[in-house]
Amino acid sequence: MRYSQLFGKTSKSAPADAESVNAKYLTQGGFINKQMAGIYNYLPLGLRVLTKIQNIIREELHKVGAQEILMPALTQEESYTTTGRDDMDILFHTEIAGGAKAVLNPTHEEIVTPLVKTYTFSYRDLPVAVYQIQNKFRNEARAKSGLLRGREFNMKDLYSFHTSEEDLKDYYEKIKEVYFAIYRRLGLGDLTVLTYASGGAFCKYSHEFQALSEMGEDTVFLCEKCRIAVNKEIIDEQNSCPSCLNVDLVEKKAIEVGNIFKLMTRFSDAFGFTFANEQGKKIPVMMGCYGLGPSRVMGTIVEIFNDEKGIIWPEAVAPYKVHVVVLGAESEVMNEAEKLLKSLEEKHIEVLFDDRAKATTGEKLGDADLIGIPYRVVVSKKTLAQNGVELKLRNESDAQIISQEELLRKL
Ligand code: ATP
Ligand code: MG
Repeated sequence: MRYSQLFGKTSKSAPADAESVNAKYLTQGGFINKQMAGIYNYLPLGLRVLTKIQNIIREELHKVGAQEILMPALTQEESYTTTGRDDMDILFHTEIAGGAKAVLNPTHEEIVTPLVKTYTFSYRDLPVAVYQIQNKFRNEARAKSGLLRGREFNMKDLYSFHTSEEDLKDYYEKIKEVYFAIYRRLGLGDLTVLTYASGGAFCKYSHEFQALSEMGEDTVFLCEKCRIAVNKEIIDEQNSCPSCLNVDLVEKKAIEVGNIFKLMTRFSDAFGFTFANEQGKKIPVMMGCYGLGPSRVMGTIVEIFNDEKGIIWPEAVAPYKVHVVVLGAESEVMNEAEKLLKSLEEKHIEVLFDDRAKATTGEKLGDADLIGIPYRVVVSKKTLAQNGVELKLRNESDAQIISQEELLRKL
């Protein structure tokens, strides 16, 4: 991608209302653009990052047989009356032509349960697990911290359906592993801890995945030995590590990046969703749900990986792998840079190519730091004189001159 053609540019000044690092750098870097509080446009750079996060999630979920579907954002309010959730204060209400009440879905248990019921008759149709990646709508009292708490935000929501509690439990444990595999690939593995989330006897029914960060709204109590935490809400009932019983738990701030629940028959009861067992007896279906927010994850990554100059993307989610910066408009410099671009593209390496003729060296290097692509490659008269290019990693301070061949080998 030629930077001169890219829709969405960097800006020198931070937005006045950017109260968090992710809002500031993502806006200044040309990744997102605020439409209103808690609602953002994704520009090409930002959409590339979001899509990479979503695809990592997809790949890991497919390994455990989850199938992708897409459910509607808009639903008749009646579905929420059925489950008694029509009074949730985060619900956005609206009206269909003709007068029927509708809502914008904040989550999809009310849609997925009757949907799966339609296709499930006996034990032979179970277990089944379906997920979607879609925008959710929640009328949050306080939308804040950029992508961390939105009123319209992106969520992956997975739902699983089982013939027994045992089977649900096995799948739930599998999903815990899948979530950690996802966070590791996202670069958040070392920082994300499993957190016991709901109170008392319900402890084993719900877990959060909390990324440790000073920016976090949540408080967790961490066992540093087991890397397991207890949510503030249950610390009175569970004041030791749920695994090793250590009582020296350390208070930490954290961002909730995932949340999983054993719903048991809460929603199948509401919708009369049963299946026929081997004896032909009708039994309520056991259900689990598993949420993970790609947009909040994107904000979290920026909160954790940055310095005073900008973002430092982990390679797996960076908008491009290589940022080629051309310094000087002399034809031999331009030709060399174009040659490099061609070789990188032949190797299918994703490149952002800063070909701007008018920008200064300072502006170009400053933008490269702000955008935060892992490999920065400078082509200039100086590097040509040394028969090479200058390579600098975004997370290191030293640059080195290497030949184009060596660069291609390294990437
Ligand atoms: P929170 O406690 O932060 O309000 P929640 O527990 O209500 O979140 P869930 O319903 O469990 O959230 O949603 C699943 C996932 O969706 C969360 O773990 C988080 O990653 C993401 N998420 C939830 N609410 C928001 C939001 N307002 N903005 C961005 N992401 C969100
Ligand atoms: Mg939650």
